[in-house]
Amino acid sequence: MNISILVFGCHKFLNTLPDQIRYATAFNVEVIDNFDLAVSYIQSTPPDIIIVQASIDGSIEICTWLKDQVKLSWIYCILLEDRSQHIIERANYGWEWDLEMTSAALKQGADAYIWQVNTEPAIDNLPEVTANHRLILAQLSVGLRKAEKYRDLMRKNDLLSSIALADSLTELNNRRALEWDLPRQIQKAHEQQLSLSLIIFDVDFFKKVNDTYGHLVGDRLLQLLATRVKHNLRFQDTAFRYGGEEFVILLANTSGEEAAIVARRLNRIVSEQPFAINNQLSINVTISLGTASLQTDDDAQGISLLHRADQCLLEAKSSGRNRVISWENFCRIPYLQVASS
Ligand code: GH3
Ligand code: MG
Ligand code: MG
Repeated sequence: MNISILVFGCHKFLNTLPDQIRYATAFNVEVIDNFDLAVSYIQSTPPDIIIVQASIDGSIEICTWLKDQVKLSWIYCILLEDRSQHIIERANYGWEWDLEMTSAALKQGADAYIWQVNTEPAIDNLPEVTANHRLILAQLSVGLRKAEKYRDLMRKNDLLSSIALADSLTELNNRRALEWDLPRQIQKAHEQQLSLSLIIFDVDFFKKVNDTYGHLVGDRLLQLLATRVKHNLRFQDTAFRYGGEEFVILLANTSGEEAAIVARRLNRIVSEQPFAINNQLSINVTISLGTASLQTDDDAQGISLLHRADQCLLEAKSSGRNRVISWENFCRIPYLQVASS
């Protein structure tokens, strides 16, 4: 694990920290004394632990800010009390003051609050300094344990998400992934005023493949088809296995006309070359495709968009299969019928 520590404080403060931190080879230690710079550093490269010098401008703010960040609040924040006034008051008021200050620090977002015994650099052989350093190092290991657990959890989380969102046969994204992605793509398209299109396609007479060659051959055909389609998409297109032998392609930043071009290309690349199941068997199949584009009055989940593409797919099937029907063309048909009657 590549452990990183951010010291939010000045270089003089760094010199008061235990040697294990100052001369760490196992950690990456970064020192920043400016609030804005620290915030952008934390956002771009989140450290495992932050050690905050209480006497520096923005010290409490950084603890509070950190705990307000949903994705960063796991970072362990140690607030080191070096404000001379506070240290004097602690000596005068004793442990009650100590407890008050500790609870205030924890409330403000610190995970640990440690009084710094010595603010002069490099006097680290006094017994109280040694004890103080031991406490800092102990808190550091608490932070490291927490970071390790968090990273482990994230790794498992990523693995589970990829399992939950992938189709095990074709390795494409599955329907759940589409249901997660489509509303987000719609929101993005509205916010950035970009077009968004969708292709839905279904293998023609696929039942015949299963009936003739068996289910395993059908499975292999679906894998080969998914791979061929995937390799023929543009970088902004995402393929999903919607169900059985039905697939959806989401085309970000793509107009209806462009989507129809992509769909015709997919139609061609599937039909023009057979799928080699093994050395003895190659199978020709075709697909039928429907395309539709996002309209301003579409619902946020994408149900109406999917429905239009699906209607086009049904039309492609009923009008003979192995073809593309796009919504722009399809919706002219009823219009013409109404106009001529
Ligand atoms: P159409 O042109 O109207 O789409 O005809 P079709 O035969 O493709 O459609 P139908 O809905 O009658 O049959 C689809 C078949 O796809 C039936 C089902 O058993 C098969 N199928 C669905 N999922 C899988 C799968 O994962 N593996 C295999 N081998 N077959 C599957
Ligand atoms: Mg079919
Ligand atoms: Mg089907």
